[in-house]
Amino acid sequence: MGALDALKGFKVTFKQIFEPRVTSSYPDEKRPKPPRFHGRHVLNRYEDGMEKCIGCELCAGVCPADCIYVRGADNPPDHPVSPGERYGFVYEINYLRCIHCDLCVEACPTQAITESKLFEFSFTDRNDAIYTKAELVVRDDGKPQQLPWEDWREGDDLLTSGWMRATSPAGVADQEGRRHWSGELGYGSRAPERGQSGLDPAEASPSLELRKEEAAKIPVRFGGRAR
Ligand code: SF4
Ligand code: SF4
Repeated sequence: MGALDALKGFKVTFKQIFEPRVTSSYPDEKRPKPPRFHGRHVLNRYEDGMEKCIGCELCAGVCPADCIYVRGADNPPDHPVSPGERYGFVYEINYLRCIHCDLCVEACPTQAITESKLFEFSFTDRNDAIYTKAELVVRDDGKPQQLPWEDWREGDDLLTSGWMRATSPAGVADQEGRRHWSGELGYGSRAPERGQSGLDPAEASPSLELRKEEAAKIPVRFGGRAR
């Protein structure tokens, strides 16, 4: 092989030197997550602090990975946990099985279970991969608990399950732009989302603006516009 052949062989390498870098120094530098990213779940509470979960087990029934375990119990009349007759007495998610499909979020009638954008958490014991209600229920300020083994970054708790909120809960175009979400501790009452049918509400959703803002941070090399 002559020198010319060697140079030809290095042509691709030399060309790449002038291309934009596609790698990042993870985990020191993290790529911004898409606005509708599916991550670790949270169990939400109403603005008055009551839990949204009513222990109906629909999320467990729909889960394709069979990783949710729920047991409902009657609300104590003197100090009810949720506004309904029953509440989620036991709630567990096994993260060794969860595929973050969000079907549980879609099935939930009260928007009790949603997903944050956090996926950076790991375990040294299989038992630790089972999150219990004590870890999943949001704090008193309505934000997700940030557990010692989780690597939360700015924005990971914003717009939980934005994807399922993009259309009406029933998927009916006529319902687009109407507010369906009940008030949520820490986030208040979520504004209706703009839909996909062209029947957008006159008032743009605040979360749409937030989605645009978040999307604008994604660099070109990851499919975004930021340079
Ligand atoms: S995201 Fe999917 S796999 Fe994970 S708990 Fe929900 S339904 Fe099950
Ligand atoms: S999270 Fe939702 S679907 Fe699951 S048990 Fe609670 S209320 Fe029912």
